Amino acid sequence: MTFKDMPKVELHLHLEGAAPPSFIASLAREKKIDIGGIFDARGGYAFRDFDHFLKVYEAACTTLQSPDDFRRLTLAVLEESASHGVVYTEAFLSPDFCGGGDLAAWRDYLAAIQDAAAEAERTMGITLRGIITGIRHFGPDQCKVAAHCAAETMGDFITGYGMAGGEMVGRPGDYAYSFDMAREAGLQLTCHAGEWGGAAMVAETIRDLKVARIGHGIGAIDDPALIKQIAETGVVLEVCPGSNVVLRAVKDWGSHPIAKLRDAGVPVTVSTDDPPFFHTTMTAECDMLAKTFGWERDDFKALNDVALKAAFCDEATRTRVAKRLETTT
Ligand SMILES: [Zn+2]
Repeated sequence: MTFKDMPKVELHLHLEGAAPPSFIASLAREKKIDIGGIFDARGGYAFRDFDHFLKVYEAACTTLQSPDDFRRLTLAVLEESASHGVVYTEAFLSPDFCGGGDLAAWRDYLAAIQDAAAEAERTMGITLRGIITGIRHFGPDQCKVAAHCAAETMGDFITGYGMAGGEMVGRPGDYAYSFDMAREAGLQLTCHAGEWGGAAMVAETIRDLKVARIGHGIGAIDDPALIKQIAETGVVLEVCPGSNVVLRAVKDWGSHPIAKLRDAGVPVTVSTDDPPFFHTTMTAECDMLAKTFGWERDDFKALNDVALKAAFCDEATRTRVAKRLETTT
């Protein structure tokens, strides 16, 4: 049984982290950049642990140097997603990797990404929305720069602001200014938490950054009161099980808390995070969830409904995607 052809909604995907390794390798060759150490013998990304993963990720990003590189990247990523049935996806976009946070440069990169998104929508039937993302380990000041880019370019395409990177750097409250700025501009909010930082990090992130969604959030499993609060308030978890297994945030698929969280009434969704880094796809995630927890087609349909309801898009887009889910299910 495979869920490859089933239509899917994905909410948690890092654009650069979804870059096929062959694409990054060919850019490196074109530009004569030496990033040799980041690949394994079979041409996949190679890293030892989460900190090393961040280094390899940033090394891969050094090959992405122009708006046109990002246009090509966006097309390559959306083609791969669409081939796994994804009809709507949100990608984390980092102005830090697109002109170093300079607003004028960011506008050029964004135009190229939007160009590719429009082409993919037309030719592959996949809709993309962008969440501008501060990199936590670059510090609160650099995250303000990203939030400023978000506030200045929000619209139909840029609909959210979030934060990724090293979760154990600082506390959520240190980054409140950028989240406040983004909220006041009208952006919807998400933040990585509880992948490494446990239940306390999830609770503080919800309290101090007032986000509608949490990236990962699996650490909440250790705090029954927090689980109850999340279930009651409807904060949505963007769960990425394959990523958690590969980075060893959990021991194995069987001990992943996604099923327990869902059974406790927490709105959970499923995403791939940085798929080629974690040797995963949306199909593989669904297939492993089916194998591990016995989830079936109706469970995945219900996951799509949760994800689409939580999507950072306007109502016209939500209705359009809902129709696509109905007609292709
Ligand atoms: Zn992530």
